[in-house]
Amino acid sequence: ALTAGIVGLPNVGKSTLFNAITQAGAEAANYPFATIDPNVGIVEVPDNRLNKLTELVKPKKTVPTAFEFTDIAGIVKGASKGEGLGNQFLSHIRQVDAICQVVRCFVDENITHVSGKIDPIDDIEIINLELILADLETVEKRFTRVEKLVKQKDKAAIAEYDVLAKIKNGLEEEKPARALDYTEEQLKIVKGLHLLTSKPTLYVANVSEEEIADPDSNENVLKVREYAANENAEVIVVCAKIEEEIAELDQEEKEMFLEELSINESGLDKLIKASYNLLGLATYFTAGEQEVRAWTFRKGIKAPQAAGIIHTDFERGFIRAETVSYDDLVEAGAMAGAREKGRVRLEGKEYIVKDGDVIHFRFNV
Ligand code: GDP
Repeated sequence: ALTAGIVGLPNVGKSTLFNAITQAGAEAANYPFATIDPNVGIVEVPDNRLNKLTELVKPKKTVPTAFEFTDIAGIVKGASKGEGLGNQFLSHIRQVDAICQVVRCFVDENITHVSGKIDPIDDIEIINLELILADLETVEKRFTRVEKLVKQKDKAAIAEYDVLAKIKNGLEEEKPARALDYTEEQLKIVKGLHLLTSKPTLYVANVSEEEIADPDSNENVLKVREYAANENAEVIVVCAKIEEEIAELDQEEKEMFLEELSINESGLDKLIKASYNLLGLATYFTAGEQEVRAWTFRKGIKAPQAAGIIHTDFERGFIRAETVSYDDLVEAGAMAGAREKGRVRLEGKEYIVKDGDVIHFRFNV
């Protein structure tokens, strides 16, 4: 399963945020893929469409979909020098599929900052520099392997050489590999390099309790926004401390609490949605009288693979995917109505599943 890693300097609020994630806690029993590891937190993906489908279909049970966050603890500075904990930090980042970098924007004199002052851009650059240095090393290693083949006029090696040169130039200007432009062919080569700075990244600006209703009053948040915009990255504002409190509430209490704070969505919910997107994940639904359920798939997969997410038998014996889009179903008001209007399609093996599809798989056993 794909996972988003939470990273950041010490004392920026990572553990507090990760606590909120595990507290909000999805029921692990519902999710057989779930990793059992104290550094992994499963979150349910908030999705209003699931509530609406539940209203329409009135099933016995409704099950949201979920995915995992990984808490990447450990020392950051000097990590690329490759000793002990630093090394571990990098190898943990290597294992995640996207990065959520927590940045301290709250000012609190009682909580020390590792660099002695609150400077979010400095903080971001400390971490990014370690990743850049580690990638430079990877790129250098590839260079020495590829160079010989380039001399033999090996076409694939020449293509890779060009990509490596481009990335190296970028890294030397402190540009992460993900911020460069590639042709589609080059993109495949980049993927094969498994670089740390090519992982999709977003920034989590952690603000104080007082600022959450109007985070842009915090200068540090504005700085993070500007920095992120430069590399087309998203910024999610949270107050980790409040998220920790919210995570203990039930749905009704949570809504009341958010209203008091004059915000309409919790920072954690925003982070969950943004990370899901960042990972390239999307949701399809199954909607039967027994159960209405959301399922996570990787954007771009075809119907049989999507069926396989429910059960391998569904993929093996796949015949057709009876499919209606969420919008069409809601407009028609019911499955029968959607069918009458000709909105229910019979899709075959080559169909690329879309976010919001409501699917009934037909298969041979
Ligand atoms: P980590 O080292 O990055 O995991 O940071 P922690 O989550 O342990 O947080 C460090 C300290 O900052 C703790 O005392 C937290 O209570 C505090 N902290 C975290 N988030 C916030 C916040 O949003 N506002 C305030 N005032 N304090 C926070």
